This record gives sequence, structure tokens and C-alpha cells, in this order.
Amino acid sequence: MQLYSTKNKANTASLKEAVFTGLPADNGLFMPSHIPVLPTSFFENIEQYTFQEIAIEVCKALIGEDVPEAEIKKIINDVLTFEAPVLKVSGNIHVLELFHGPSLAFKDFGARFMARLMSYFLSQDASKEINILVATSGDTGSAVAQGFLNMPGIRITILYPSGKVSDIQEKQLTTLGNNITALEIDGVFDDCQRLVKEAFLDAELNANMNLSSANSINISRLIPQSFYYFWAFAQLKKTGKPLVFCVPSGNFGNLCGGLIAKKMGLPVDKFVAATNANDIIPQYLTTGQFIPKASVSTISNAMDVGNPSNFQRLSDLYGNVFDDVKKDVVGKSYTDAETSAAMTEVYKNTGYILDPHGAVGYLGIKEYLQESGTDANGVFLATAHPTKFLDVVESAIGVTVPLPERLQAIVSKEKVAIKMGKDFEGFKAFLMANK
Ligand SMILES: *Cc1c(COP(=O)(O)O)cnc(C)c1O
Repeated sequence: MQLYSTKNKANTASLKEAVFTGLPADNGLFMPSHIPVLPTSFFENIEQYTFQEIAIEVCKALIGEDVPEAEIKKIINDVLTFEAPVLKVSGNIHVLELFHGPSLAFKDFGARFMARLMSYFLSQDASKEINILVATSGDTGSAVAQGFLNMPGIRITILYPSGKVSDIQEKQLTTLGNNITALEIDGVFDDCQRLVKEAFLDAELNANMNLSSANSINISRLIPQSFYYFWAFAQLKKTGKPLVFCVPSGNFGNLCGGLIAKKMGLPVDKFVAATNANDIIPQYLTTGQFIPKASVSTISNAMDVGNPSNFQRLSDLYGNVFDDVKKDVVGKSYTDAETSAAMTEVYKNTGYILDPHGAVGYLGIKEYLQESGTDANGVFLATAHPTKFLDVVESAIGVTVPLPERLQAIVSKEKVAIKMGKDFEGFKAFLMANK
């Protein structure tokens, strides 16, 4: 797979280069130079494949030049150790549950795939050890920590803002040990992000260690986010109805995964991009103007993004032609009150428990199906398990939600984190001492 930068198609990279550098030097984002279309026979027989087999086919088409087939199989079988079921919620509305992985959020797909792909590339180059720095406000950190746990040749340092992540998220970040180190920063998320950025720019640190990042803009996190769209299609194929996806979105990586699946031939009628009050992309889809804003806090806080980084990819996938983007994608945004009311309503009417992000997705698909009058299968993506946002969910539905077993185990573990100020010198001294 060759990749180019969205800022300048002449800036190209191999998959391996793109995975380790994360971003092109010109500040664009990496995109595949060619997105292959899968053969019709694949779609005709897709219901006979398992989730893993589907992912292997998609992967072979995308990265088969870079990674041997036997390795692709190994990676996929090791990444997809949990289900992604499609369930009916009501009428034509279905949910694609993406929260059955170790961190209980869809970011597990991206993080686990990235970890194994990096580890494969590193294994070709035995002397190398890399240090991945991750700033997190919660969800990304726990998916990355879980995804990279015990990966040979990779050390993970996670920076999180003290007192600003939920208790469960903190436990997920601080109880793994092994190759995962958690730094509890006396500051806010922006401080954590600044420390990581300064580290990447620091000549002395870079001369002493191989620094890398694992953020959501890495192409290796995008690729696996296409798999479950094919799998949802396979699960619903027998109904013979057209398919509409609604993706609750923040940085729009998840949506881009779906758009890539469509480019590979997956028959999808429409994508609904649903946001909370941070409605930059829905505004863009209405006006054609992309105007980033400061983010505002909402109850679906993993989507509180004021300058969605994957906008460049979204636009690039359509040759930067706004009218073409609009043919495939419609935007919707919802307030916290609407989101909360959706959680209440769905629980009351069906017994299904939504998390606030899934609830935004539910609202988007419901509104789209109503206004378009289409008899399509509507599928919204549930991106987090409801117990990850326990307070919000319980106050909306009025009952207590039991923690899934894998979270119960974490809660009783002891937190291990290194407390640190928000000044760069202290952070740098720590990295140098532990190189
Ligand atoms: C990260 C995240 C999102 C947003 O995904 P993007 O790919 O950034 O659009 C939605 N829901 C949850 C629970 C998340 O963790």
C-alpha cells in the first residue's frame, strides 16, 4: 500500500513509514493512493464468512503487498477476539455493538490492530525498541494501553490529567503494568498533549530514543475501522434491504472507516454523521464551510472535538468535491437534553440500554429514516459500553447498570501511576532516566 499526504499528493510513504511516523511532515494526513474494490463474488457470499474471515479479505486487498498473508491472518485472529453483533432495537433500527473489546469502546479495534501491525514491522528489525507517548482524556489511553499490552519491542507511556478522567478510566490506565506506564499529570488534557508534542520536537530525546505516537490519525487505526461495516452488512444481508449507517462522531475516523468500506464496494445507501453540540461537520455538510471552533463539554464527551482531524480525509475521499461528499453523507447534531431523552425513551420502550454516544447515533438514524421515508435497514454504531458512562446512563434510565465482569476485575486492582507536574523539563528528565 502506497500512501500520500492529503496536503500534497507528491509526498508519499510506504505503509511501514506511515505507521511509524503517524503524520506526513507537511501536516496533512496519510491516505492510501489506491483503494481496491473487492470482487462481486465476495459480496455475494459474504454471509458465509466469519467476522475474522471478512477482515482478512479486506486486509489482504489493502495491505497484502506489505504484510504476508500468514501474518495478516495471525494479526486479525489476534485482534478480533470479541464479537461485533448487530441487534434489532426497534422497527428498522439496528445497533452495531462495538464495545465488546477489552476497553469497552470501539477504539479497541484500531488500537489492537495498530499494536500488532507495529509489532510485526518491528520484528523484521530486531534491534529496535520504540517508545509510544499517548496523551489521553480517557478513552484513547485505555484502548491503547490494552491494545499494546505485552507487545514485544514497544513501551507505552500514557499521560492523563489528574482528576479529569473517570474512576474506571483511571483504573483502566493504571492497573496494567508490564510495558505500560501511566503518568498522572497535574494539569488538564491540553497540558498532556503539549508535553507529548514538545517531546516529539526535542532533539536530545529523539537522539536517545525512538519516539512514536498512537493517535487516532494513524492510518493503521483507520484500516480496522472498516471491517465491522462489512460484518454488519453480512449480518443483515438476508433481509435484502438497503443499508444506512449512522456514526456518532468526534474526530471522524470511525466514519472514514465506513467510507473506505463503501469505496471497496460495500453497498451502503447513506452515512449519517451524528454529533453532539460540537457540530462542525454537520454545519459543513449543510453550508460547505468547514469552520473549527473551541470544543464544548457534553455528556458524550469522547466526541467533544472542535477541530475534527479526519475532516481532511473525509474531503480527500471525494476529491475535495463538496457535492460528492453530500451525496454519501448527511450530518445531524443533538443536544445533551435530546441525547438523555433518547436513552430514557429507548430503555422504556425496548429495554435496550444506550450509552450517550450510541444515543447520539440512535437519534441520527431515527431522524434520517423518518425524514427520508426509506425502507432501509438503519444501523447505528454503539461505540462504548453503557457502564463506561455510568452516571449519565443511570440518571437517564433510573436503574443501576451492573458492571461487566471484565470491569469488575479492574475496579479492585491497585492504581499505579507516577505523579508529575506539567512542566516539560520534569517530563523530559523522566523519559531520559527511563530510556
Ligand atoms: C472516540 C470515540 C468516538 C468518536 O470517534 P471518532 O472516530 O473520533 O469520530 C465516539 N464514541 C466513543 C465512545 C469514542 O470513544
